[in-house]
Amino acid sequence: MSTSTPQKFEFQAEIKQLLDIVIHSLYTEKEIFVRELISNASDALEKLRHLQLTEKEIFDDKLDLEINVTTDDKAKTITIQDFGIGMTQAELVENLGTIAHSGSKAFLKALGEGAQKNASLIGQFGVGFYSAFMVGKRVKVYTHSWRASEPGHVWTSDGSGSYEIEESEGERRGAKVVIELKDECSEFAQDWKIKEILERYSAFVSFPINLNGKRVNTVQALWLRNKNEVKEEEYTAFYKFQAHAFDEPRLRLHFTADAPLAINALLFVPKENTEKLGFSRLEPAVALYCRKVQIDAKPKNLLPEWLRFLKGVVDSEDLPLNISRETMQDKALVEKLNKVISKRFLKFLGEEAKNRPDGYAEFYAEFGHFLKEGAALDFAHKDQLVKLLRFESSLTEKGKTTSLTEYVSRMGADQKEIYYLMGPNRASIEAGPYLEGFKARNLEVLFCYEPVDEYVMNNVREFDGKKITAADHADVKLSDLPKPEGALNSDDTKKITEWLKQTLGERVAEVKASDRLVDSPVLALNADKMTSPHMRRLMKAMNREGADAPLRVNLEFNPRHAVIKRLFETHTAQPEKAKLVAEQLLDNALISAGLLDDTTAMVARLNKLLESV
Ligand code: ADP
Ligand code: MG
Repeated sequence: MSTSTPQKFEFQAEIKQLLDIVIHSLYTEKEIFVRELISNASDALEKLRHLQLTEKEIFDDKLDLEINVTTDDKAKTITIQDFGIGMTQAELVENLGTIAHSGSKAFLKALGEGAQKNASLIGQFGVGFYSAFMVGKRVKVYTHSWRASEPGHVWTSDGSGSYEIEESEGERRGAKVVIELKDECSEFAQDWKIKEILERYSAFVSFPINLNGKRVNTVQALWLRNKNEVKEEEYTAFYKFQAHAFDEPRLRLHFTADAPLAINALLFVPKENTEKLGFSRLEPAVALYCRKVQIDAKPKNLLPEWLRFLKGVVDSEDLPLNISRETMQDKALVEKLNKVISKRFLKFLGEEAKNRPDGYAEFYAEFGHFLKEGAALDFAHKDQLVKLLRFESSLTEKGKTTSLTEYVSRMGADQKEIYYLMGPNRASIEAGPYLEGFKARNLEVLFCYEPVDEYVMNNVREFDGKKITAADHADVKLSDLPKPEGALNSDDTKKITEWLKQTLGERVAEVKASDRLVDSPVLALNADKMTSPHMRRLMKAMNREGADAPLRVNLEFNPRHAVIKRLFETHTAQPEKAKLVAEQLLDNALISAGLLDDTTAMVARLNKLLESV
């Protein structure tokens, strides 16, 4: 019953946008509104359960913590009522009128980033409460906050632009969402239809759910059951419910531990990595429970950052039930949980890699980025993570990868370091001048295609006692190869070295005959040891300081190469032309290293050289 005149409010612009999309539905699976509203009801009950631990005065305190769903096929309505915390007027405005909550925010951000193209993914965000407007022409929320001093309210909207709030007497604690169904959605007013939907999800809700007065679920926690008794479909349904997901999980780990902590955990890796697709950064989504009671749905420190792609549940009997979400961060217990679960999950990935290499490769292609992040930044798990990294190499086929463990097992007795090269792809690394010296000596080189790899390699630094070194680093020393016939002798080599140094002047820091070249005449190594050619390109791309410092490189030349020998023969007789050749050789080396910024001088020079042919 209303005791005041209704007050009209405009939805925030973003919500209008959201509603517009929801109403002109992207979803084929409209039934998810049931899941979303049940999940909100369950959240509200969880929150109330927490409040009961600390608050003395709670409105309507005798109510059972349960959810009641009723359908009315004559009136074409469905009602979902909970006895949770409810909302005050201010909370109604804040929670249902503005975009404060995570799911919808992420959804909108993704939309802004062009996610329309990937409509199926949008479902992963779950637009929460607003999904009621997919099926409803009008939605009413009757609510009374747990705070006894606040009056009850009814919130009403048809989803177009505005909503009304009116005081309302006689409300029970919690929220009652009444949906007046659109004609084409009237099936959701059928008892059997809702029963079918609820049965699929409600098993995972930790509060009793009644449909038209009949209990539909027995509260059971899937993660506490013996894994031999849980069916594949049950796991998948649980994943979809718990992660608000549409996809099937890619990997699953269900485990129990007794020491050092009693843990029951059920973890899932989704099919797709939404961060990789350009969606916003994932937030922790493995919920923390204590004996089936939820402590926190999104605990921050339960898992390391790089495991933020996991979904699921961790239940530990050793947590105090009244642990609050705020103080949880400091709890040594959570740290311990973090350690045990991370370790167990890493072990699981190791087993997957060994027993199901193809599946692991697919996982790695999708989620490898997170493992790299961990290897580079999480010192505690670095060693285990590095073992899980995979790269193509000069010894793998295109598209096939190797682990560092396998690499080390192939190393010859003389090889002391692990080598890698950065490049946009296999072809460009193979065509560049850096690889050939390693190939000639049968040294394997890892191929790194992602910009982040350089950062990872620099941070990881060594594996199994072996230094990890960029093959284009100026410090790399390679063993002598037997000198092929026809190389310049050491006197002549010295002369041409001196001459090159003089001729190229400021542009080179050092010139020397090289032991790493086989088929190419020259190569350039960055004289600044801290920045490899690749790093410099990266800094340039990011507009970073240092990117524009005058470039001086170490030039290495191949005294066996025909061009160098010819240069030696002509450099005294035709000094002009030899100078042009030397400069052009340096530019060629810079091009291969991706370091030549301005090509105008080079083109002019090339034309001059062509004149003399
Ligand atoms: P989310 O659940 O991701 O926060 P929703 O759109 O589902 O987003 O809900 C928005 C907010 O509205 C919730 O965070 C909560 O504060 C409030 N809310 C929704 N349903 C209820 C309810 N049944 N009882 C109390 N508060 C609710
Ligand atoms: Mg919700």
